[in-house]
Amino acid sequence: MNRVALITGSTSGIGKSIAIAFAEAGYDIMFHGLEKNGSEIASKIGEENSVRTNFSNANLKDQEAINELIATTINEFGKIDILVNNAGIQYVSKVEEFPLDKWNDIIAINLSSVFVASRAVWPSMKNNRFGRIINISSVHGIRASEYKSAYVSAKHGVIGLTKVLGLEGAGHNITCNAICPGYVKTPLVEGQIKDQAKAHSLTEEEVVKQVMLKKQAVKEFIPEKKIAELALFLAKEDSSAITGSAYVLDGGWSAQ
Ligand code: NAD
Repeated sequence: MNRVALITGSTSGIGKSIAIAFAEAGYDIMFHGLEKNGSEIASKIGEENSVRTNFSNANLKDQEAINELIATTINEFGKIDILVNNAGIQYVSKVEEFPLDKWNDIIAINLSSVFVASRAVWPSMKNNRFGRIINISSVHGIRASEYKSAYVSAKHGVIGLTKVLGLEGAGHNITCNAICPGYVKTPLVEGQIKDQAKAHSLTEEEVVKQVMLKKQAVKEFIPEKKIAELALFLAKEDSSAITGSAYVLDGGWSAQ
């Protein structure tokens, strides 16, 4: 029986790259995300790699929907071996103008959903004596930037939660680790490039070099594939002693 991975936000960006890498490695995948073509993405990647897939568009703002997502996945696949908490959103604004509803959405999707999904999957992982929880935090989980109060708070929170789950999973063969990427060129970031070009009256190329990658020593986006490779490593059978840690893939940003 194949190992089963549920990857939130896997019909776009980093999550999709992680899902492809896991499918190529023979994992069955529960895809998830709000993209309209999610079901087709799941079927296509499943067929290409001869693995079982399914798709859910559960809204992570709704905690009951998260519980259902976990229950449905276990029901359909028999278990969840790997949970990748990847889905996330961003909103950028000065603190005094930061809308409360955006704060609440970011905390719900980027932080609370990680807790609710992990809590829901925990009993079955404990029972199976196997679990690998991988949280996609950010370099903003260990560093701050102006105008990102909710995002930075949520991503710091994810690293704290990762440590707690690492401790509680010890002895049950459940590990929990976080991955902290610098900038990755995904739809989430492509939108920001356009907005910032307008805001700063710069070309998109200038925004990438002068604004976006300013803090990264290596002036290149982090390849999605590298994040997927690290996730695969953390999910391995023999990675049981690797837990409670945050792995930074940030082009040297936090080295400064
Ligand atoms: P993306 O926008 O390409 O994908 C985000 C995914 O989350 C999508 O599938 C979307 O449908 C899903 N999602 C968003 N809101 C949701 C909701 N309410 N309910 C269910 N699903 C929802 O973004 P990405 O860049 O691939 O980001 C993935 C993760 O990586 C996020 O947690 C993000 O914070 C983190 N991250 C991204 C970067 C970057 O530079 N792109 C850097 C560091 C960390």
